[in-house]
Amino acid sequence: MTFEALGLHTSVLMALTEAGYTAPTPVQAQAVPAAIEGRDLLVSSQTGSGKTAAFMLPALHKFALAEQQSAPQGKTSNQERQATRARGERPRFQPAQPKMLVLTPTRELALQVTTATTKYGAHLRRVRAVSILGGMPYPKQMQLLSKNPEILVATPGRLIDHMESGKIDFSQLQVLVLDEADRMLDMGFIEDIEKIVDATPETRQTMLFSATLDGVVGSMAKRITRDPMVIQI
Ligand code: AMP
Repeated sequence: MTFEALGLHTSVLMALTEAGYTAPTPVQAQAVPAAIEGRDLLVSSQTGSGKTAAFMLPALHKFALAEQQSAPQGKTSNQERQATRARGERPRFQPAQPKMLVLTPTRELALQVTTATTKYGAHLRRVRAVSILGGMPYPKQMQLLSKNPEILVATPGRLIDHMESGKIDFSQLQVLVLDEADRMLDMGFIEDIEKIVDATPETRQTMLFSATLDGVVGSMAKRITRDPMVIQI
């Protein structure tokens, strides 16, 4: 099995070659084609299985296609924001409108996911990932959000603060990932997660990764996914 055979966009394939990855791991081989088709996923897999790439590669593939299809002369909302600043005008406050959100239980995991995303997305022009974490100073986070990143990687508590103060608008969200969902539930994040999920469009693609898929995780998964493909590694 090769990454080419999974149907990934060339710009993603280039980044994988540079990362020295020669073949997909089992979870990637199953998850990537289904996610490219737009399926929701419920994946039971462990840390170290390559699960980050399993959800990030198909999302980056989708963004790479969108970049390719977007009219080159059209200004992106980010370019408009930059132009406003260049004219010396104070940009009107606009909430960030991410296309993808990855929720993780811990700051460490969020930072790892963000680093991996930067690596896998190195050849995409517009895609940027930022981490929104508890304990990070607010001014720094406001500065990151003001750049309107396409991908947010966040721990649930801090994300709720920004959401409730109107700094983030999830109406454009296309992909939602819950990474290590069982750990997030163990840590008591269920209400925060439900609030966040309720703020996202029903048309989103949802991918849930967890060590186990039964019990509370299973019932939450049922509520937030549609006809998911279940992958057990
Ligand atoms: P993860 O389970 O996502 O934390 O990944 C575990 C480690 O495996 C990370 O260091 C990745 O960079 C690496 N990795 C993920 N997928 C592959 C692959 N297909 N080939 C080689 N290394 C990989």
